[in-house]
Amino acid sequence: MKDSFGRNINYMRISLTDRCNLRCIYCMPPEGIPKMSHVDILRNEEIVRITRVAADLGISHIRLTGGEPLVRKGVIGLIDDIHAIEGIENISLTTNAILLLQMAKDLKEAGLDRVNISLDTLDPVQFTEITRLGKLECVLNGIDAALEVGFDPVKINAVTVRRLNQDFLSFALMSVDRPLHMRFIEYMPVGASSGYDNSGWGPEDVISSEEVRDAINASARAKGLPELEEARDDEKPLGYGPAKYYRFPNALGTVGFISPLSKHFCNECNRLRLTADGKLRPCLFSDVEYDLHEAVRSGSDADIAGVFYTAIGAKPDEHHDKVGTERGMSAIGG
Ligand code: SAM
Ligand code: SF4
Repeated sequence: MKDSFGRNINYMRISLTDRCNLRCIYCMPPEGIPKMSHVDILRNEEIVRITRVAADLGISHIRLTGGEPLVRKGVIGLIDDIHAIEGIENISLTTNAILLLQMAKDLKEAGLDRVNISLDTLDPVQFTEITRLGKLECVLNGIDAALEVGFDPVKINAVTVRRLNQDFLSFALMSVDRPLHMRFIEYMPVGASSGYDNSGWGPEDVISSEEVRDAINASARAKGLPELEEARDDEKPLGYGPAKYYRFPNALGTVGFISPLSKHFCNECNRLRLTADGKLRPCLFSDVEYDLHEAVRSGSDADIAGVFYTAIGAKPDEHHDKVGTERGMSAIGG
């Protein structure tokens, strides 16, 4: 499926739930967000049917996200069913990894190919400050479990927020001894997120990827460690995203940078998003959504396909530096 700007749309991110077992300060207020009504949430069989139609139209890669996808009831069976759909070549999951230790083996056996784990700091006190509810140890155990059961690649994503004063070098160095792909993501103006100290998103909190990379190299030099070098194509992890990859000499993993703000990659955007309440969203930053809920509950497969064609036809050329969206990241499916 090509959109009006010639981009091949082959990737769908599915938000399984707007609920979460954490309350990251840049994503949700402490009390959480008003929950979607249960009847509005797509059922597992509805998600499978939509995915089957999408696969017929050329979607080959699925990412499950949320909210926290691992708190969704029946997630293992759902992955099993998506895995069986002809045309789906790869299934990945974005998770905070709190539940990964106990679920990794079943997820792998159900057909999940890879995981992206969100982790913004290696400092246990700061971790609990950022997530409000989480324990760092659970995530570290989840990372071990992900490697042990053989997810490949395992990517670890940190959102960089200036006021958090994160230790970028320690994070990047996790790529040295194990095949972990440590990635830094620029803080995006999505939702009316509570921001650090509930102050909301502001440009002053954005740190460009270039600044993060320079800071890593400066700290490495100060410690007599080698600096990052650009990764060769055969060293980069498999993926459908726009990260730019580096590595420390002889490291088993890589260090990646995702720069939605400082270096637009809209011209390469290959994705659509399906929200937990059945809306197809052509662009993360645009509030324009197309209703699949109605089509999947009372329409034919052709009706579902029709919504896909409309949404793809309406995919904007780029985000035009838009600030704020009606829904937050956890409800859109970040
Ligand atoms: N709960 C899961 C998790 O945290 O991995 C999946 C959903 S979460 C919304 C997906 C990703 O979006 C996380 O890596 C999170 O850090 C990131 N995120 C949330 N708000 C963001 C923002 N304003 N800018 C950049 N990334 C953000
Ligand atoms: Fe939950 Fe993920 Fe948002 Fe954190 S970033 S509150 S883990 S949805």
